[in-house]
Amino acid sequence: MKFTPAKPPLTGETLDSLTARLRENGEPAFRAKQILAWLYKKRVRSWDEMTNLSKSLRTWLADTFELMPAALVLNKQSEDVTDKLLLELGDRSLIETVIIRVPQEGVGVDHSRKTICISTQVGCAMGCVFCASGLAGLKRDLNAGEIVAQLLQVCYREDERTPRAHMELASFDNIVVMGMGEPLANYDHLIRALTILNADWGLGFGARRITISTSGLVPKILRLAEEPLGFRLAISLHGATDEVREQIMPVNKAFPLAKLLPAVKAFSEQHGRMVTLEFILIADVNDSLEQARKLRDIALDLHAHVNLIPYNTVEGLPWKRPSLTRQERFADILRAARISVTLRREKGHDIAAACGQLRLKTEKERELAAV
Ligand code: SAH
Ligand code: SF4
Repeated sequence: MKFTPAKPPLTGETLDSLTARLRENGEPAFRAKQILAWLYKKRVRSWDEMTNLSKSLRTWLADTFELMPAALVLNKQSEDVTDKLLLELGDRSLIETVIIRVPQEGVGVDHSRKTICISTQVGCAMGCVFCASGLAGLKRDLNAGEIVAQLLQVCYREDERTPRAHMELASFDNIVVMGMGEPLANYDHLIRALTILNADWGLGFGARRITISTSGLVPKILRLAEEPLGFRLAISLHGATDEVREQIMPVNKAFPLAKLLPAVKAFSEQHGRMVTLEFILIADVNDSLEQARKLRDIALDLHAHVNLIPYNTVEGLPWKRPSLTRQERFADILRAARISVTLRREKGHDIAAACGQLRLKTEKERELAAV
């Protein structure tokens, strides 16, 4: 399903596209920089706050663009360190953006390192059997403005918590594209959004601090390797053999390991940076020591970092995480080979669990309310 907003979002404009649009309206080119500075540096939330623009230009802007295409409908802070923003888009679709705070030694939570997990689609078409985001299939792609808006909403949220002296900068440390959706299935909008986030006239956020996670769309991985902005890559592997991977990730039929792994290698050689292999541990599905040994061999060959994620149960799905002992035994096989491995522990690190489920719950509540 395609969604064409009545007015395009300002957050989807690049400096060039906005300059061209203003020119058509008889405005000088420098106005575009001023407008984007109000949006990304001063982070005003209404046209009237753009005080160095004439009243008539502000009226034209308001008639032409949506300043913020994603409205905050719920901010759910859990007892742990995640902070979930539920956002509503112009067609009432819901998406989730999650702030994961990792407190730093000796300082308060406001000085924590913040990783922001963003969504790229409403739903997902990839059909991984364990995932909440894909349960109802794909509703639609997000446009670039809706992707950028998630980060701006996070800035609004964080600016309210931090002194004004900290403004002008992005208020977070890392972006992970690990929310709802398969980012590489929405390639052009994704790259446009990340370009806006990276630009000095945008949020000025370093590409090296942005990680894109994919279920393994091989041609798009190869295309991503050619992008001038060097984004980081994470691969949702979840199975160290075709046999296991195919059971839980339908994408493995089109792109089996014999195609996926060389593409990952090509990416990492091109970038000279480690790729991350994500591996959810699901009891009795992929948690055997045999799988651990296969994963070890793959990681050694790719010189990759491995992120082991104990599965987070999803309402209505039968899968469970293995016991702590089993998780550790699996990790030990990788550690013994001196692979760089993390086994997520804290609840707040469970990015994926955070993403997708709040939306699902709210949509169910809406359906019930409509009956
Ligand atoms: N579509 C992309 C990015 C979004 S999913 C991808 O698949 O990589 C982000 C990560 O969360 C993926 O590694 C995904 O497999 C994982 N994930 C999905 N559901 C999960 C669950 N219930 N518990 C733990 N991780 C999960
Ligand atoms: Fe889509 Fe990623 Fe979930 Fe698979 S794991 S269904 S690709 S969001």
